[in-house]
Amino acid sequence: MNRIKLVDTAPLAASASDDLMRLLENLRDGVVVFTPELRVRAFNRSYLKLFALGEQDLLIGDPLIKLLRTLGRNGTLGLKPGEDVEEAIAHRLETFRDMVGLVERRDLGTGKHIDIYRSLTTNDEILSIHVDVTEEVEKSQALERQRQYMNSLLENTSDGITLLDDHGHFVMFNDRFLELYGIEVGSVDWGVPYRELANRFGDLEGLSLEERRHEIEHRYQFAFDPSQSRVRRQLRDGRTLNINKINLPEGGCVMTIRDVTDELRRITELEAARRLAEESNRAKSEFVARMSHEMRTPLNGILGVSALLEASALDAKQSDLVDVISGSGKVLLRLIDDILDLSRLDAETFEMIEDEFDLSHVILQSIGIIRSSADEKGLKVRFREGNERLPRLRGDMVRIEQILLNLLTNAVKFTDQGSIDVVLESESGPEGVTSTISVVDSGVGIPEDKLDQIFNRFYQIDSTVTRKYGGAGLGLAITSKLVDAMGGAIQVFSEVGQGSTFRVHLTLPAAGAEVEESDAD
Ligand code: ADP
Repeated sequence: MNRIKLVDTAPLAASASDDLMRLLENLRDGVVVFTPELRVRAFNRSYLKLFALGEQDLLIGDPLIKLLRTLGRNGTLGLKPGEDVEEAIAHRLETFRDMVGLVERRDLGTGKHIDIYRSLTTNDEILSIHVDVTEEVEKSQALERQRQYMNSLLENTSDGITLLDDHGHFVMFNDRFLELYGIEVGSVDWGVPYRELANRFGDLEGLSLEERRHEIEHRYQFAFDPSQSRVRRQLRDGRTLNINKINLPEGGCVMTIRDVTDELRRITELEAARRLAEESNRAKSEFVARMSHEMRTPLNGILGVSALLEASALDAKQSDLVDVISGSGKVLLRLIDDILDLSRLDAETFEMIEDEFDLSHVILQSIGIIRSSADEKGLKVRFREGNERLPRLRGDMVRIEQILLNLLTNAVKFTDQGSIDVVLESESGPEGVTSTISVVDSGVGIPEDKLDQIFNRFYQIDSTVTRKYGGAGLGLAITSKLVDAMGGAIQVFSEVGQGSTFRVHLTLPAAGAEVEESDAD
């Protein structure tokens, strides 16, 4: 059915043949013709479709106001935001003729966008062509969104960003880029040639013409040399810029410029503060180490003399007094030794002496030292090791004995009945022999929440025990530092009332076969 209908054929038929009618009917664009009195004279199928109109919604001869009302009802009038339907209809009627010769873009509110071309025919009729431009509008909206994203990305970064094309033009830069080079934002447009903009770089001010030309060329070369991707530029005003660059396959490059002046200053300051703290810490530890060393000399004198006195003929009272002198002297010597060890370990002036030794032998020797105090308390001390014979090892035997003695002395100190077991397990690996020495006691145990703290300096759970047996809470601090210095690890497991287990893991190289042979000689 041909929907191009004419009220009276004469005027339009004179200018429109049947072919033209068919052409209009098949057109994708919606066409509607109004008489000079603004009544519908003709329309095509695309018009109905575009405005979501049914067969009965539009009839030849309908006045424009009726058409506008229908469009208002089915929501295709294309209201502006906040516009009222009646208001819109009144405005359309009023301005309908004024729109002749103009192009109007309208958002129909149905997701469709149209361009309306309105023209006057020779007999004063108004021809209105409606072109569906939805796709075009959507594309340009998507592009606009992208542009806004890109812009906010570019403007919300603290880095300067720029894109140079293969002809050496700044096709894009953000405001930060201009700021970094001391150029007033907004004073220059994208597309400016490199040399022209570089000539305004603030950091080149004060250079002679020749120097400036040379510097600009140098920077230009960097931009286009794909073998260079980053440079740190020290500006004459004291700032430091880090420039990262990616050369694009189609020529040109993208550069990001970051002002790292503050960052570098902070790093330098931190580094200086760290060095100072380290130095003063070392100086302090050295002082303590030296002082404790110096204190040992007179103390050894006191202990030596009191030993001589002990051996001389003394009455009971004098003998008791000399006992107090030598007992206190020994406690003091032990304390000084511990402080000396700790400060040397802190100052990293602690020297490990490498020697060959038999670990089982060292353990037995340590047990021998504490045996008498264990016997005094009626404690059994046992040593157990694996069946395989442990090779001789290389390491600091004296320090390992010190570790063992600290653990064993504590075991005796904090156990009132039962036993102390020392268990040695070992395993050979690519890095040497890993030995695990466990010192297991059946003593008072350590509460779980104190397990972490017992390795801290001067930490003691119960100072009454210390009063009885001595100790300043330094033993485990030294022990764990020594184990650390040997690249090992120390663990503690304990249950209050059941006992404690201290486990030391040490990986030490096995002594070479040659050395072993010469030892056997
Ligand atoms: P000190 O033995 O001189 O007090 P340590 O550093 O050797 O210092 O030990 C710190 C504290 O850890 C001890 O005072 C004690 O409370 C706890 N402790 C250490 N070994 C044991 C143990 N075998 N059983 C129970 N408590 C222990």
